[in-house]
Amino acid sequence: MDRLDVLKEGLRRAENFRAAASYINFDMSTISPENARAHEGELIAFLENEAVRERKEPSFVSALLSSLKDIDSMDEWERAMVKEAYRTYRIEKNITKEEAYSFSLQEQQAFLDWEKAKKNADFSIFSKSLQGVIENNKKRASLRELDETEKGLMKSDYDRLLDMYERGMTTEILDPLFDESKERIVSLLEKIKNSKKKIRRDFLTRKVPTEKQKEISKMLQEVLLVDTTRSLISESAHAFTDRMAYDDVRITTHYYEDQFLSNIYSIMHESGHLMFDMMQPKENHEYFITEGKTLGMHESVSRFYENRIGRSKSFISLIYPRLLEIIPETLSDVSEREFYEGVNIVEPSLIRTEADEVTYTLHIIIRYELEKKLIGGELSVEELPKAWNEMYSELLGVVPENDAEGVLQDVHWSSDFGYFPTYAIGNFYNSMYYNAMNRDFDIGEAVRSGNLERINSWMIERVFKKADRLTPSEWIFDITGRELTPCDFLDYLDEKYGEVYGL
Ligand SMILES: [Zn+2]
Repeated sequence: MDRLDVLKEGLRRAENFRAAASYINFDMSTISPENARAHEGELIAFLENEAVRERKEPSFVSALLSSLKDIDSMDEWERAMVKEAYRTYRIEKNITKEEAYSFSLQEQQAFLDWEKAKKNADFSIFSKSLQGVIENNKKRASLRELDETEKGLMKSDYDRLLDMYERGMTTEILDPLFDESKERIVSLLEKIKNSKKKIRRDFLTRKVPTEKQKEISKMLQEVLLVDTTRSLISESAHAFTDRMAYDDVRITTHYYEDQFLSNIYSIMHESGHLMFDMMQPKENHEYFITEGKTLGMHESVSRFYENRIGRSKSFISLIYPRLLEIIPETLSDVSEREFYEGVNIVEPSLIRTEADEVTYTLHIIIRYELEKKLIGGELSVEELPKAWNEMYSELLGVVPENDAEGVLQDVHWSSDFGYFPTYAIGNFYNSMYYNAMNRDFDIGEAVRSGNLERINSWMIERVFKKADRLTPSEWIFDITGRELTPCDFLDYLDEKYGEVYGL
């Protein structure tokens, strides 16, 4: 067999294991009975190990390494496939089976401890595990084999972790972007706090039955032109998107009867992830490069549909009459303007996942600064809860009453470090490409008239198409002709919320 065929065959087998694990994960997070979960968890770990084993087969590795030599004579797709496989190879190469197993055991324990700690609002239950996870992450980072370019870029363990989620991103690049964001957002927030504007909120907690909310979900996906022959919506504790195959991408939501906006914006957010996965070139699947999209790219798209489209005046004007038909008893005494303001309330709060567009980035910056110090050894696990509370008080002016609503609120640190910043980077990207799109045509006008086709087509052509073949910095430059900057996002916040709050 030709070595590219050997490579493709190995990648196909690994992908089959990954997809099978995804199906089980989806089942586990949605419908499986509580006592079935432990076994499903074991199956997932088994399948993931099998995928790694495929990639470590000597024949696969030798085909990969020898094909690197003539990468210049390959076509664009083959080249992308080899590059992607080589990156994965270097990440996995020095991690033995025993180490991988011990990492995974440690994470499972950490997850259980985190759950218990959160339930009891007691950080001390989690602290030992957290220390272990930090050590694991540092070890994983130091075991990565770097090529020459990467060696020049990644100057610390934390840089190596960042790069796992956002390729090429370093603290050197990120620090000034976050510093500028922090300064401008804190100053905007101050003005909002001092504004005399009162936004009406009584209708936001009106009871909307689950059946009605399901109708709303369906209406939103119709408006967005989501292909429901290749996707579905299920329910889980926390909303997520899972890609099983080219023709099967699924999302979940959670229906809170007294918070109907929560479902609306979960559907908008997850549908963004869904469309990115579903509307990517078919070749991405044929050449096994679907993981080339970084988390920052993914969050940029989900937040584009959730916030830039979903919380815009024109989108509200498009869906308000439709909502009025579905839930007249909730909205008949609420004007379109009141509804628009209601979905855009800004309020410093303790919980990241409930944060508005303005304060959200501050929640991320807090986590970024703390995790950077934890990995760098400048902050100890014991000092973490206090440092957390101090930063919340400084940036948001709120202080958690206990660890459950403070440092224990997110699951991420029971396994991953370097992940959080991608949420904020996503906002920077989508504001940059929103402006580029808006130069090509009037986005507000397209949305108001229900022409989402125009927007989706632009996204497919400019945003989705090359995402898996370019690094994030090449990709954003390819779309906008500019380097990554938070300015477009910060200008957008100033302008939009200046109008909402009459500043
Ligand atoms: Zn997301």
